[in-house]
Amino acid sequence: MEPLLNVEDLKIHFPIKKGLLARTVGHVYAVDGISLTLGRGETLGIVGESGCGKTTAGLGILRLIQTTGGRIHFDGRDITTVDRSRFRRLRKEMQIIFQDPYSSLNPRMTVNRILGDPMEIHGLYPGRQRAERIAFLLEKVGLSPEHGRRYPHEFSGGQRQRVGIARALTLDPTVVVGDEPVSALDVSIQAQIINLLIDLQKEFRLSYIIIAHDLAVVEYICDRVAVMYLGKIVETGTYRQVYRDPKHPYTRALLSAVPVPDPGRRSRRVILKGDVPSPIQPPSGCHFHPRCPERMDVCNRRRPRLAQQEEGHEVSCFLYSEQIEEDSG
Ligand code: SF4
Repeated sequence: MEPLLNVEDLKIHFPIKKGLLARTVGHVYAVDGISLTLGRGETLGIVGESGCGKTTAGLGILRLIQTTGGRIHFDGRDITTVDRSRFRRLRKEMQIIFQDPYSSLNPRMTVNRILGDPMEIHGLYPGRQRAERIAFLLEKVGLSPEHGRRYPHEFSGGQRQRVGIARALTLDPTVVVGDEPVSALDVSIQAQIINLLIDLQKEFRLSYIIIAHDLAVVEYICDRVAVMYLGKIVETGTYRQVYRDPKHPYTRALLSAVPVPDPGRRSRRVILKGDVPSPIQPPSGCHFHPRCPERMDVCNRRRPRLAQQEEGHEVSCFLYSEQIEEDSG
């Protein structure tokens, strides 16, 4: 069956301008050729350290920022080049939950307005239906219709994120991108919000892309996972494949930092040296080679390509495949 969302070779490069003439002197290769799919009712996790390009990828897929290359197909339609007016109709199908429930809600608007404005813009739920819809959504996210009269500062962090989730649902979307949807919340609240997202997914038949640096969050909610490093996907598979049998040294290092009460799992912590390199001048060959505990001679000369290990499980690493990216020199 054709996936609901099909992203092919997505690139998002930001030009670096300098001087009076604003000449382009380089690029930030934030997302550098990623491909992924999302099925109906499925949850895909995109994970990686800060600066790996995962949030930029999410914004690009929703066309909230300009993409440089690649194709995005949604429900069989190529949405990469549709004009603004046609895309406005598609916009309601694809919504986002932002990371920070403090800054993502307008402090001067009541919750009724925060939820009502998108319906107004799209001409949905006119008249009395709008108030009914808002009350319905507030109840679905664990708030009450009375909360609609309040302003964002009158809520706790967890309640604000519930409002953010309700806002994402106002237009009856099919796909929701959660950009670190629980990372700004207390640990005690995180599980409640994750459970809420799971319940809403079942009830509204949503497809999720969950962007997170916390692999524990992703493991709990996702069907499949894509691990990103410096603008590229380095491993992807079902959550079982990636969590139970991680192949890429970067995935193994990330997972080794997640505390798990499972004696069957390896617990040796892999400490990665240094920070994620600059996406302006990514390292030669395999981008991970300066930090990789298992690098070989070939790794700084050639760039490995994602290659299938078993059905649905792909890894880009010379430990498993000799396939190289064509432009890797
Ligand atoms: Fe490490 Fe080489 Fe594999 Fe890159 S290709 S992850 S440097 S072993």
